[in-house]
Amino acid sequence: MTAAFRQNGPRPPDSAVRQEDLRDLNLEVVFQRILGAGSPISRTELATATGLTRPTITRIAEELLAGRLITEKGVPHNGRAGRPRVGLTLSDRGPAGLGLDIRADGLAACVVDLTGTVRHLTFAPMPYTGRDAGAVLGELTRMGREAIEAVMIKELTVVTATLAVPGPVDGEVVRVAPALGWRDVDAGTFLADLGVPCAVDNEANLAALGELYAGDDPLGSFLYVSGGLGIGAGIVLDGTLMRGARGWSGELGHVTVESEGAACACGSRGCLATYASTGAILGALPGATNRTDALEFVGINPDSVITTRAEAADPAALAALDRAGSALGIALSGAVNVLDVGTVLLGGSFALLSSWLVDSVRAEIDRRVVTASWSPVTVRPTLLGPDAAVIGAALTSIDQIRRRPTTWLARQS
Ligand SMILES: [Zn+2]
Repeated sequence: MTAAFRQNGPRPPDSAVRQEDLRDLNLEVVFQRILGAGSPISRTELATATGLTRPTITRIAEELLAGRLITEKGVPHNGRAGRPRVGLTLSDRGPAGLGLDIRADGLAACVVDLTGTVRHLTFAPMPYTGRDAGAVLGELTRMGREAIEAVMIKELTVVTATLAVPGPVDGEVVRVAPALGWRDVDAGTFLADLGVPCAVDNEANLAALGELYAGDDPLGSFLYVSGGLGIGAGIVLDGTLMRGARGWSGELGHVTVESEGAACACGSRGCLATYASTGAILGALPGATNRTDALEFVGINPDSVITTRAEAADPAALAALDRAGSALGIALSGAVNVLDVGTVLLGGSFALLSSWLVDSVRAEIDRRVVTASWSPVTVRPTLLGPDAAVIGAALTSIDQIRRRPTTWLARQS
């Protein structure tokens, strides 16, 4: 017996559309046109583009202007004489999003406005109390509150915040973050004093979103790989971040490179992390310690230990980086064969070490990706560098307003 054909897609509404819903829908259509225009767009152009009447456009524009979601700006005249035309564009005063990030070497806070422009970016070293969740998140709360206050004088109101953490997240609970020594940390409770609602997400996912927003292809497909004490990946296909069924996609660090390789902290053997994490690279250097936690505690950044030795052409450092790059290339080849992405972005420690990694990564991809002979895969460092995750977190926070401007307007009334 065959199963009944199951129809996917939107269902028709159960009742007639209410007048206020229609008003909200029209407002969102107009706002999305202004957002997508990229440069100031006139009321007449908006009426033509949306099919709405001129009085409706005028009413909606008034509402968006009063809510500080848009602003009026002059439109270039194409050389013709006459009164300058006035167009509508996104406001840089009004709602803003806050991003917070815990990196290997410190903490970062960032605010972006509705246009996606970074308006505040601060960095602080890791608290000397180590990686205690209360101390780290307490310091981030202080930095977040400071950021919220700092942008107030720029007439920006932070609506929500997003925290980037180096590990898989379940709601607001950080399941495991080896770089911090955290397991089942309820980050939400520690951020209660921030003053705005705060979501928690994986740093590789947020960095991938940051790169997507910063890039010039809104429908791009790429893999963002973040190196560090752990290795994570953000998967973007056709402009959408793919989080997976339970939100835990991208655990590239635990993809097997060598079935009987070294034991990994996850319980398996021969994982990518045992070759290419910062600890693994440091561990392969004679005289260096793979106790990266101890190094950072005394204020030494493990990335700078590796780069200093690589710059000095230390043969052990170059061999360790070559081995890390090959293992990364092998793991990435599997992912590229399955996902069909044309670009791999190296982020986190991999961005800093990319000049030593990229050749061996490319060599493995060229050898192992079946389509590479006629369609080469681009491998390059990220656009946003080490700030990708914190900017991505701030952009994710403001994205809610960009998608649903009525939620902001409802707060204002
Ligand atoms: Zn593992």
